[in-house]
Amino acid sequence: MSVPAVLEGLRAAERAAGRPEGSARLVAVTKGHTLAEIEARVLAHGAFPLGESRGQELRDKSAERPDLEWHFIGPLQRNKVKYLNRVGLVHTIEAAWQAEAIAQAAQGWGHAPDVLLQLHNGEAQKHGIPAPELPATLRAVQATGLRVRGLMVIAPDAEAGADQAGILRVFQDTAARAHDLGLSDLSMGMSADYPLAVQAGATLIRVGRSLFT
Ligand SMILES: *Cc1c(COP(=O)(O)O)cnc(C)c1O
Repeated sequence: MSVPAVLEGLRAAERAAGRPEGSARLVAVTKGHTLAEIEARVLAHGAFPLGESRGQELRDKSAERPDLEWHFIGPLQRNKVKYLNRVGLVHTIEAAWQAEAIAQAAQGWGHAPDVLLQLHNGEAQKHGIPAPELPATLRAVQATGLRVRGLMVIAPDAEAGADQAGILRVFQDTAARAHDLGLSDLSMGMSADYPLAVQAGATLIRVGRSLFT
């Protein structure tokens, strides 16, 4: 697959859902790929935000190409916050302390990234905010001054037995919660499940493997 193939799939999913073309945007997940590969496989097809999930890798790549739009999509430990200085959007806020640490570091950077709150997907999973804690976490994160643009979720794993209906339900539940909280962005959908995410209202899909294989 390739960027053009994924964009075609994305446009088809938008049409099937009766959504305007371009209402869901591709975040190209580039973890594990060199800047030369990213240049050839992704940037040759247009300007896309680039999603990285490992701190040092993000630091090195974004230092070399500060002109690109970098997103952070990985678990955020305290000692990794310093690597976010060239990031425009952090998808994976799971606790207020992370937002506080980013807001504090941002004073030194002179600019702050926007953030998304990662919702727990209901399955045995390490990451994400349990749904009942979402409103309180949102208030605490907003109190740091960071702009919360929406929610992010990782669907239950199809390879571990999740079916299409169950995955769609998680995406629809996430969309409903974002709507209730007045949040407009929805980061959901990966190579295996982005059409379902677009059906449920995703505005950012995070696709990696399909761009490079
Ligand atoms: C790696 C990763 C992706 C991309 O997944 P693919 O299956 O390669 O499309 C999306 N989101 C997160 C959080 C990731 O870590």
